[in-house]
Amino acid sequence: MSGPILTLEGVSKRFTKPLDAASRFANMFGAGYREEVVHAVDGVDLAIAEGEVVGLVGESGCGKSTLGRVVAGIHPASSGTVRWQGQPTATMSAQERRAATLAIQMIFQDPMSSLNPRMRVTDIVGEAPVVHGLVPKAEQDGYVAAMLERVGLDPSYRRRYPHQFSGGQRARIGIARALAVKPRFLVCDESVAALDVSIQAQVLNLFMNLRDELGLTYLFISHDLSVVRHLSDRVVIMYLGRVVESATASALFKGPQHPYSQALLANVPTIAARRKRFAALKGEIPSPLHPPPGCHFHPRCPQAGPRCKVERPALRELASGHVAACHLHDGGVGARAA
Ligand code: SF4
Repeated sequence: MSGPILTLEGVSKRFTKPLDAASRFANMFGAGYREEVVHAVDGVDLAIAEGEVVGLVGESGCGKSTLGRVVAGIHPASSGTVRWQGQPTATMSAQERRAATLAIQMIFQDPMSSLNPRMRVTDIVGEAPVVHGLVPKAEQDGYVAAMLERVGLDPSYRRRYPHQFSGGQRARIGIARALAVKPRFLVCDESVAALDVSIQAQVLNLFMNLRDELGLTYLFISHDLSVVRHLSDRVVIMYLGRVVESATASALFKGPQHPYSQALLANVPTIAARRKRFAALKGEIPSPLHPPPGCHFHPRCPQAGPRCKVERPALRELASGHVAACHLHDGGVGARAA
């Protein structure tokens, strides 16, 4: 197909934190407390081509998991447009939306909490394809056996319960469940974070083999740059709800342009050379309840100037396919003349 398979245009996701009972009571006497708004995702533009593997990276609390859930249709966007194969998901018919929901599957971090402990694997994996009419009920058992084989599990285990498997095997069950509805796009949210390093490598290899065999597209969400480095075609860096840099994996690791990306790379233990060049990241990510004005990164940025505190930097193309949002690449960080 031509054009991206998935596009986000100015997508934001906000959550409202309701007032507690004491604040509501105080409001009866004119205290004026207001509900607080969490800006989890703030105006994200992103286009993903069919067959591409995009790594979405940032610290815990940067909004990457929320963005993944918006992509997977679990959370509706508060504003902006999500397009699947060019069509806005918000204007799809019920039938089109159902097809898109099946085509985009999410694989979660903790397989144990995302697998129903009271269901056998044959039902965990086989229920959705039967319910959605992809497989006749009579063929469910054989279909599940084939799915388990595809993800490297012994099909004879299909009558077991999740607690009878190791962490790596449960991760494979989660992948089999997603594959069972014949998706084209997988959103993997920290899908290997809970696994030992050797098991991580096996599951990452499985993802890449499935990409080759089935032509899958991936949005691979991780806080760990070393995990996404080897499997991503492109890496997108997020900070406090915004995309701050996006480039091919090789360009980003060779020459990160945003101070936040540089700091993240300095924290990757295997990249000794980067550690020498860039200051490691200090401090905590601010609360998305009260994001700093201007560039969200300015309280932690070693290169911040007066302009950074008041003006949001726009994403600018620095080289073909390489964009970053930093005033250093757009006239400097000094105060703008009035
Ligand atoms: Fe740092 Fe300013 Fe660039 Fe933000 S805009 S990353 S604060 S230099």
